[in-house]
Amino acid sequence: MAKMNPGFLNLKKSYLFIEIGKRVREYIAAHPDNKIIKMGIGDVTQPLAPVVVAAMKKAADEMGVKETFRGYEDSGKGYDFLREAVAGYYKSFGVTISPEEVLISDGAKSDCGNIGDIFSENEDVVVTDPAYPVYVDSNVMGGRTVHYVNSTEDNGFAAMPDESMKPGLIYLCSPNNPTGSVYTKEQLKVWVDYAIKNKSVIIFDAAYEAFISDETLPRSIFQIEGARKCAIEICSLSKTAGFTGTRLGYTGTRCGYTVIPEELMLETPTGEEISFMQLWCRRQGSKFNGVSYPVQRAAEAVFTEEGYKQTRATIAYYMQNAKVMSETFDELGIKYTGGKNSPYIWFKCPDGMDSWTFFDKLLNEAEVVGTPGAGFGKNGDGWFRLTAFGTHENTVEAMQRVKKLLSK
Ligand code: PLP
Repeated sequence: MAKMNPGFLNLKKSYLFIEIGKRVREYIAAHPDNKIIKMGIGDVTQPLAPVVVAAMKKAADEMGVKETFRGYEDSGKGYDFLREAVAGYYKSFGVTISPEEVLISDGAKSDCGNIGDIFSENEDVVVTDPAYPVYVDSNVMGGRTVHYVNSTEDNGFAAMPDESMKPGLIYLCSPNNPTGSVYTKEQLKVWVDYAIKNKSVIIFDAAYEAFISDETLPRSIFQIEGARKCAIEICSLSKTAGFTGTRLGYTGTRCGYTVIPEELMLETPTGEEISFMQLWCRRQGSKFNGVSYPVQRAAEAVFTEEGYKQTRATIAYYMQNAKVMSETFDELGIKYTGGKNSPYIWFKCPDGMDSWTFFDKLLNEAEVVGTPGAGFGKNGDGWFRLTAFGTHENTVEAMQRVKKLLSK
């Protein structure tokens, strides 16, 4: 019999959102008249911006006309028009990258999960705890050992390097999912210096960069001196512009982009240097189907003046929800991070409750669904995540219920 990849045996038994879904379904079956408000999964609720929809439709029409039809995209890196638009976007916040360094992806999850393919299985991995589960799962599947650095209440959920570790890969996420914390420039500089000293590569997940409004906070790791020598950056249009559902129907995929500096190198088994970009493109050439033409045109529209205006209005809507949420927790005197430059609020469960007990209490007594922090790592236990991606009406109603429940 063919042998399975033994790495799968080390994965956690059930995925967090599957367990949440099971408990919610059981509650609904027992309470058919429920008025559940879902603030668990970080999925958006507002429609795509009109300028994005128009671009997607126009491109879909082009696909039905002989002269403008497009088949396979031969480079697999994304169309030049979108790579140039992304490079232009970086310029708007003071970072110079070449369009050649931008690779269009079908979402940040794919690239976060697949990037490990180009590293040796002997490289150690550092992940902050708590973390977006994809970093750990993909490396466990790849047979690599994962080490954790602690994000805790004491360090504001901004884990810093452990000098006793010498990892090949480091995953950082800022603004962070789940904690909503954002690294300062000074903190990221410490990580960059540490990575250069240890010849590590930082995989910087900037899926939520568009939610940063404080101009002193870095939106990109490439705002930090030295980062081009040691980092790649993975970004997404899922939350920035509501692309979570563009994978459905005729349009095919969701969309993101990864920035890989041309000078970033890995070491070959014989000790020579090889370009990171070359290895990643080789991997993608064999295993990645690319992003559909209509979705790439829709993504291009996000980076136009009108697209920026319309998508930022939606982000402002979500951040108004986040404000309602943070004001509620301020009022209740409950400790939290996030909610200011991030669409997540991460708060301490009341009365020392563990996060699954609080999940059940919130579901049963307030009919509000959130995400137990324990699902993101051991430091998440006793903490809880709510998202600001709901409708404004639901957010206001949910916060009234939370207030009633917690001020009892
Ligand atoms: N990275 C982080 C930190 C996320 O929270 C998410 C989605 O929730 C992703 C990546 C996935 O992004 P995408 O929808 O582009 O695959």
